[in-house]
Amino acid sequence: MIDGLRVAPGSAARIAEREPRDDLDLGGKEAAKAVLGELRERIAELQERLYAEGSHAVLLVLQGLDASGKDGVIRSVFTGVNPIGIRVSSFGVPTETELAHDYLWRIHAELPRRGTIGVFNRSHYEDVIAVRMHALAPEEVWRRRPAHIREWERMLVEEGTAIVKVFLNVSRDEQLQRFQERIDDPAKRWKFRKGDLEVRERFDEYVAAWEEVIGETSTDWAPWHVVPADRNWVKSTAVARLVVDVLERLDPRMPAAEPGLEGLVIT
Ligand code: AMP
Ligand code: MG
Repeated sequence: MIDGLRVAPGSAARIAEREPRDDLDLGGKEAAKAVLGELRERIAELQERLYAEGSHAVLLVLQGLDASGKDGVIRSVFTGVNPIGIRVSSFGVPTETELAHDYLWRIHAELPRRGTIGVFNRSHYEDVIAVRMHALAPEEVWRRRPAHIREWERMLVEEGTAIVKVFLNVSRDEQLQRFQERIDDPAKRWKFRKGDLEVRERFDEYVAAWEEVIGETSTDWAPWHVVPADRNWVKSTAVARLVVDVLERLDPRMPAAEPGLEGLVIT
C-alpha cells in the first residue's frame, strides 16, 4: 500500500507527478475502512506498549497545503488511542515571543516525551516554506535551514525519537471544492480565511517549494512520504499504516514485572 510513497534520500519528491486521487490499490472505500479499523487497533495496542516501556517517542510530522486534510487525518488515525500517550501540536504564525528565539525553539518545546506519540500539525518546515513564500526573511536565511533541520532531526532520532514525515498531496481541484464547502457550511466557515486563496493562486509555486525542501530533508533517519490526499479514506489508511510501521520498528515491550507477582494472591 505504502510502497512508493516514501521519498528515497537524495531523490526528487516529484509531487506534481504523483496522482492525488490514487487509491493505493485499497480496493474501494469499504475495504479501506476495514483496513483502517485494524490499523487503529494495532496503533492503540502498540501505543500502550510504547507508554509502558517509556524509552522511545514517536513524532509524526504532518504537512500539506490548506484543505489537504491534516486535521481530519489526525482525528481519523488516532481515534481509539489513549489520550494519555499522545499530544497534538499545531503551529501557526509565530508569536512575538517565538520570533524572539531561533525557529526551532517553539518546535523543540513541543516534542513528545519518551513513551508518547507527538503529532505536528504543521511544523518547523513552515520556517522554510511559509518564510520563503511570504518573504519573511532573506533567501540566505531559509536556504540554510534544511541543513540545520537534517542534523537536528538526526540528533532526535539518535536520542530515541522515531520520526515519520508526511506531505498530504491534495489536487488544486479538490482544494477548490473543499474551500467552497468550508464557505458554504456554517460549521466549517471558521476554517476559511480569504488569505487561503493566495495559496490557491500560487499553488504550483507552493508545490515546487515543497518538492525542493522534501528532496533536501528526506533522510534515512527521518524520511518523507507523499500521500495522495484527494480521498479521505486513502490518506487516513496510508498514514495509519505509516504510524504502525514506525511503531513496529521500535517494537516496544512491556517492562518486566517485579519478581514474585505471578500467582500472588493479596488478602
Ligand atoms: P492553519 O493551519 O490553517 O491554522 O494555518 C496556520 C497558518 O500559520 C498558515 O497560514 C501557516 O502558513 C502559518 N504558519 C505556520 N508556521 C509559520 C511560520 N513558522 N512562519 C510563518 N507562518 C507560519
Ligand atoms: Mg487553514
